Amino acid sequence: MKYNRCGLSGIKLPAVSLGLWHNFGSVDSMANARIMLQRAFDLGITHFDLANNYGPAPGSAEETFGKILKKDFSKHRDELIISSKAGYLMWPGPYGDWGSRKYLIASLDQSLKRMGLEYVDIFYHHRPDPDTPLEETVQALDHIVRSGKALYIGISNYPPPLTSRASKILKQLGTPCLIHQAKYNMFDRWVEENLLAVLKKEGIGCISFSPLAQGMLTGRYLHGIPKDSRAAKPHGFLRVEDVTEEKRNIVQQLNSLAQQRNQSMAQMALSWVLRHKEMTSVLIGASRVAQIDDAVGALANLQFSSEELKTIDTILSGKKENIKV
Ligand code: NDP
Repeated sequence: MKYNRCGLSGIKLPAVSLGLWHNFGSVDSMANARIMLQRAFDLGITHFDLANNYGPAPGSAEETFGKILKKDFSKHRDELIISSKAGYLMWPGPYGDWGSRKYLIASLDQSLKRMGLEYVDIFYHHRPDPDTPLEETVQALDHIVRSGKALYIGISNYPPPLTSRASKILKQLGTPCLIHQAKYNMFDRWVEENLLAVLKKEGIGCISFSPLAQGMLTGRYLHGIPKDSRAAKPHGFLRVEDVTEEKRNIVQQLNSLAQQRNQSMAQMALSWVLRHKEMTSVLIGASRVAQIDDAVGALANLQFSSEELKTIDTILSGKKENIKV
């Protein structure tokens, strides 16, 4: 495993981290969840990412993780970076969603109970709240660190200007923001616009979620929608209609380039995300052990020639006539 420093902090994260959004809920196989976590750790993946609402049922991914942690990882707690989040709907009424102090602190207490932990390593505000003053949200995050329930603070899905503001307040409070968790993959490049520059300036690390576009940037959907894929599952966040012919054509062409690089499609998609110096880690999901092995294999080739990068841009722009792969 390669470990990258997270922004200007003292923490290093594995270049590949594992998220428990899908495939670790009460609807999923505990045995499969367990072997995936064991394999990930054996490969040097020291960072596991959760949130209050991961499942389904909401909360059940943290429960699954807590059980496996107790069985297999109790001696390894200090070798792990475990994160959780709050920001999306978790319980009924006005206090189980968004970004109030009430919600964040209560939610983290619930997450700690579900996982059987005394603290998480990183606690995130999961999404910006347009109605709660930013000061209230970040003061709650600062309080959480001071109370010992989290070691570091992160934000997720915050646009660049709000990231700057949050970072400045957190620095004043004495709890600098460790990391920003942002969606970044070949199909969704919003972070390139301004976010990475803000993170560099503020000394904040970046971890990209859905680096494989939930599986679309792999060989998974090249020949249809497999029955056991995320798109085919009723509770999967990827919908059948997201897997369009246009995207499949693009992935087909990207896949030819990946083969020339001696990489799988997924490996090239992950290496491409990691080409930015500001990118601390790619946060993958997996439904089986082989996908974790495949992801870590990406680290064998992180270099892109400028010609390859141009070809990828051209393929992604849909201008097929310019492509030589
Ligand atoms: P990915 O884009 O990595 O998609 C993962 C899915 O892609 C897998 O479940 C699998 O789908 C497929 N896949 C993975 N590897 C391979 C491979 N080598 N070959 C073929 N198919 C593969 O990430 P996720 O969308 O799962 O997100 C990752 C994590 O990011 C989450 O677990 C969560 O921790 C975090 N996240 C954070 C969000 C936020 O708002 N902060 C939002 C969303 C995610 P299949 O099941 O079909 O096999």
